[in-house]
Amino acid sequence: MTETKVECNECHALVLPKIAAANGGLCAQCVKIPEKLRQERREYDKALSQGLLFVPSKNELESTQTPIERAQNNVSWELEPEFYKQQLSVMQVLKHAKSEALGHIFLISSLGSRLNVAFNGLYGVCEYQNEENGFFCYAYTADNLNSQVGDNAHLVQACPCCGVGMLWYPTRFHLPRSIAFEIVERVTGNDWPPYVKWLEYDDISYTEPGRG
Ligand SMILES: [Zn+2]
Ligand SMILES: [Zn+2]
Repeated sequence: MTETKVECNECHALVLPKIAAANGGLCAQCVKIPEKLRQERREYDKALSQGLLFVPSKNELESTQTPIERAQNNVSWELEPEFYKQQLSVMQVLKHAKSEALGHIFLISSLGSRLNVAFNGLYGVCEYQNEENGFFCYAYTADNLNSQVGDNAHLVQACPCCGVGMLWYPTRFHLPRSIAFEIVERVTGNDWPPYVKWLEYDDISYTEPGRG
């Protein structure tokens, strides 16, 4: 006789009643995750189902940063030397990127900030980072995507030294590809586009391809 399985309180997987009973209503996987993390996951799922993750959070909107390069007119941007082994100019890299179906661009300013770009055929994501000031920002404009990006068009944050993928960018970071390229061109030309808000981002580690 087969026992009627019950749902795990956390992930809704079906488990044997005696396992759920032994684990306080949880499956064998969920019981291994600390309550604090399970709670974060629940809050994330709730925010996702309510569509709250497709627009900047209140925290993010209040964190608008002014890049330190903005007030300077003698800033230069160089290629991240770990990632670009060949002797190329920023202009050459940008021109090449625009002919590619997908890729990344990693730049460093003479003041030590980073401009990291991920792009595919549809979208781009621009990140501005200044470690000294603790700025980890994404470019937000009126054109950022505000409904779920499809998993085949979802962009990944990559390591600037080796290009290896790290975290998935939330949907709201995604811009039309052409705007992402325009932002990089203008920033590297010391002409920061006024339509971009640089928002310090919340924890993005729960984002999965096509989800969040
Ligand atoms: Zn579970
Ligand atoms: Zn690396």
